[in-house]
Amino acid sequence: MKHLPSLVAILLLIALIASCSSNPYSKTNRVYKKQAKEYGKQLSKFPIEHSEKEATLNFGEYEVGTTNFNLRKPNYVVIHHTAQDSVAQTLKTFTLVRTQVSSHYVIGDNGEIYQMLNDYYRAWHGGSGQWGNNTDLNSSSIGIELDNNGSEVFSEAQIQSLMQLLKVLKEKYNIPAANFIGHSDIAPTRKVDPNRNFPWKQLAEEGYGLWYDDIPFVSVEDTLVTEKEIVKEVPILEEPTVENDSIFEVKEQKVVSPLDVSPEIALKIIGYDTSNMDAAIRAFKLHFIQTEVNANLTDSDLKILNNLYKKYLK
Ligand SMILES: [Zn+2]
Repeated sequence: MKHLPSLVAILLLIALIASCSSNPYSKTNRVYKKQAKEYGKQLSKFPIEHSEKEATLNFGEYEVGTTNFNLRKPNYVVIHHTAQDSVAQTLKTFTLVRTQVSSHYVIGDNGEIYQMLNDYYRAWHGGSGQWGNNTDLNSSSIGIELDNNGSEVFSEAQIQSLMQLLKVLKEKYNIPAANFIGHSDIAPTRKVDPNRNFPWKQLAEEGYGLWYDDIPFVSVEDTLVTEKEIVKEVPILEEPTVENDSIFEVKEQKVVSPLDVSPEIALKIIGYDTSNMDAAIRAFKLHFIQTEVNANLTDSDLKILNNLYKKYLK
């Protein structure tokens, strides 16, 4: 019996070696742990360390730490497609320091989910982009990459896993429905993921993202825009007559418009960066129209936009 402790130690060592050899990522997992430990150490420091510039601020006499706090939590989910050929390729990409890209989750087309980063950490999946006034989506979002070569259809198993994951995240962090968005939404000039096969409507039905009503209801009051048009100018020198006793004759003309604000305003309200309108319209169509993706807004697109932007005002 006295050999028991050493036997346990040997067994543990064997188990450790076996788990290391069965996981091709054991080396980069160690890098993760080391880095996470370092951040933990930095955050737990008190008094709070200040940079040289911060130290010149007019701080009070005492160091006072509050007793009431927790961690900041994510409030957006950004969905991507990997534009790579396999999950293995993506896992590799996200564990090579030189690529400088990552995401919290990768979902294979067989439905397998790889969580590569704690939700509370900041992954590097958004790059430069904007949604509403939020210009640092990486800081406030969870990134989910779907294995997809960029044009293929998303498998049923993959979408099912995604839905289950979104349910967990939405409940855990209380993320509003409107804050489930795509990479192309936040970076319209650079990105086209997830591709036009992505089932945004199906997601919105479950509360992940917003969608327009099936048959957009557009009331007569909503669509009639009154334009005042000067149709005739009467020379001032002319003597007013019974028929013509005013300087201007104003004719009211009814113009039917499917959208009651400008497309730019509507897209802005939804969240799009409209500094490049063609790109913003393409991104809107990739997400909400899908059958046609270009920079033209048809009558039907305008009706959808009219119905949709109001949902973002609620
Ligand atoms: Zn992306």
